Amino acid sequence: MPEKKYMMTPGPTPVPPEVLLAMAEPIIHHRGADFRRAFVECSDRLKEVFKTKNDVIMFAASGTGGMDSAVSNINAPGDRVIVHSAGNFGERWAKIATTYGLDVCHIKEEWGATPDPAKLADELKKAPAKVVYLTHSETSTGVVADIQALAAVAKEHGALVVVDCISSLGAIPVETDAWSLDVVVAGSQKALMLPPGLAAVSISDAAKAASEEPGRCPSFFLNWPAALKALGNETTAFTPAVTLVLGMNVALGMILDEGLEKRFENHAKLGRACRAGIKAMGLELFSPDEDRSAVVTAAKAPEGIDGQKIVGTMRDKYAVQIVGGQGVLKGHIIRIGHIGYYDIFDILTALSALELVLADMGVEINRGAAVTSALAAFEQ
Ligand SMILES: *Cc1c(COP(=O)(O)O)cnc(C)c1O
Repeated sequence: MPEKKYMMTPGPTPVPPEVLLAMAEPIIHHRGADFRRAFVECSDRLKEVFKTKNDVIMFAASGTGGMDSAVSNINAPGDRVIVHSAGNFGERWAKIATTYGLDVCHIKEEWGATPDPAKLADELKKAPAKVVYLTHSETSTGVVADIQALAAVAKEHGALVVVDCISSLGAIPVETDAWSLDVVVAGSQKALMLPPGLAAVSISDAAKAASEEPGRCPSFFLNWPAALKALGNETTAFTPAVTLVLGMNVALGMILDEGLEKRFENHAKLGRACRAGIKAMGLELFSPDEDRSAVVTAAKAPEGIDGQKIVGTMRDKYAVQIVGGQGVLKGHIIRIGHIGYYDIFDILTALSALELVLADMGVEINRGAAVTSALAAFEQ
């Protein structure tokens, strides 16, 4: 028997069969009518999922490509920008901005902290910034930031607001227009239920205007004006990732058919179930015990146990793939992703495999409690 594999990470995530089948079709030409129809439909569906009237462009890139474009296109070297981070992905904004020679003010909160809007307000009062870079779901820690509050502070001080919603879009509420987010970046391999390889970026009028000013940081491929002009003509500037765009159109159709609100509710329930299971087993949560943090659940590795070893054993012995900590958290936490094509049985599988591995390692845990508590929290 081939080994049955379980993907329980916050990206990549499992892909539904309907989407896989759409992507298995013979390749069609990207300038033909069939692709044009799907591309336009996909672009319109993206707007619905982003909750925006703004254009949403796609790049054949991982999520970081979308982030890169959200730095180079709206800044000139030397521009003052603020990065407000509390984890690995938030810090990535600072790395990109530094790469492009910007004047970066980095509000670097501890990994695992929830970004404090008052800290952002303090920095903006000291000196204005052209752009504020934020992270919605900090996948490295499990913390979901209050983007509405942070964006309101940035807007009050006249800054453009750019948000990494790579792991949050489609899983938890993202209100691009209602929260006045100028730029929102998403990635295909998270809650959108696709393989890696597509970045989607929504662009407000103000962000578009900034991208048209002379002296921008140079980028030939990740070029917003070219992508927006092509989108206006119902096409792309270069050969798009045809397969992924066709898959995304199907995946977004599924998400919208089910309804965003229903999906958000289901993700909240899965988060609740996962946290309840972790606690019942006797482990301590690292990510906040709150409904908002419904993307990834992080738990502290038990005293004296290497988190990486838990992850490795779960994968090698049971083919259940979760992930460990990144950077300073490596070895200290484990993370279970529950976004996209997931249901309660996936959570129970992850918890069961974790229980078996911890018991194997001689960790004293409450046997059988995780699944029972997870189910109870799910049904509540
Ligand atoms: C996954 C992720 C990224 C990076 O995306 P890649 O597709 O790996 O480039 C960035 N930010 C967050 C919050 C993520 O979850």
